Amino acid sequence: MSNENNKDIHEFDFNLICDFFSNMERQGPGSFEATIRALNFIDNLSNESKIADLGCGTGGQTITLAQHTPGQITGLDLFPGFIHKLNQNIEHLNLQNRIKTIVGSMDDLPFHNDELDLIWSEGAIANIGFEKGLNYWKNFLKKDGYIAVTYESWFTDERPAEIEKWWVDAVPEIDTIGNNISIMQKAGYVPVAAFVLSESCWIDNYFIPQKTQQEKFLKKHAGNKTVEDFIKLMRHEAELYSKYKQYYGYAFYIGKKI
Ligand code: SAH
Repeated sequence: MSNENNKDIHEFDFNLICDFFSNMERQGPGSFEATIRALNFIDNLSNESKIADLGCGTGGQTITLAQHTPGQITGLDLFPGFIHKLNQNIEHLNLQNRIKTIVGSMDDLPFHNDELDLIWSEGAIANIGFEKGLNYWKNFLKKDGYIAVTYESWFTDERPAEIEKWWVDAVPEIDTIGNNISIMQKAGYVPVAAFVLSESCWIDNYFIPQKTQQEKFLKKHAGNKTVEDFIKLMRHEAELYSKYKQYYGYAFYIGKKI
């Protein structure tokens, strides 16, 4: 059991986490450039293609997909507040005929077997589990369909105990890039590519935008101990990253269903 000063993010109220993140463009590390780089490995798309973006959040990458691929995109997320934000952006950018949204769970998908040409998921597959997600989602992909996911990954076989514990608590299955590629292959995909997301994906697009939001949030919830603990945890995550970033990060994994 964790004490007050050492709470795991999962112990905080889901609505509190979502309220914090819904005002940010991204809910996890990533970048426009990384999305485009991954997209360059996908060669099967046409106007008839069906694409799902699972755990899309407020849809930073969903919009990028719509603007740089043909086909119909469905953004799916468990949190209605994020989908609401995405819907506003879709309308603002006049992309209603390209993107549909669904509030739903990635472990109970509303698609038919062999229906999708591409499954996208940035910073979200840990919620179902890397291996379980790859296996379950494969049912919905056509033969030769693609999957592209980002996932927390170790860069080395050994790491300092402090960071090992942090990540094993948060993502018990976390593994090295080599092992994750092997898991992808065993799940029935040709591993097409894997690459590491740059430090800027974390620092410039995730930790720095959080700073203003943290200040606002502390003001809005002045005196609320849970909120203070939550912000403390977010700040601790950023400190750990600057201390241990040579040991872990996000990698993009791109596979093709056999
Ligand atoms: N792809 C976005 C969001 C990543 S954060 C980005 O990179 O910015 C992870 C997202 O997964 C959150 O939006 C969260 O609401 C969503 N999520 C968590 N569990 C989920 C589930 N079971 N089904 C669908 N989405 C889920």
